[in-house]
Amino acid sequence: MCSVNNCHYWGKGNRCEAQQIFVVSDKFADTATDHIDAPQASMTQATPVNNCMETACKTFVPKGSYMASADGVTKQQ
Ligand code: SF4
Repeated sequence: MCSVNNCHYWGKGNRCEAQQIFVVSDKFADTATDHIDAPQASMTQATPVNNCMETACKTFVPKGSYMASADGVTKQQ
């Protein structure tokens, strides 16, 4: 479930329709390129945080962005 309705993967009823997502620390999200996402998760270092305010969805792509296919993540069928 996700309320970020300007995301490419967002769907009705606040459902995330990405096949997979990658949640990381804000700090990591600030520096990693858009190409790093769930397909690269197993090769990425752990990014511990202190609370939920320090986490970020790395899979977010603005709706309509040409970057939607840059990270290898697709929508659920
Ligand atoms: S990819 Fe992330 S930001 Fe986008 S709808 Fe899914 S959970 Fe929300």
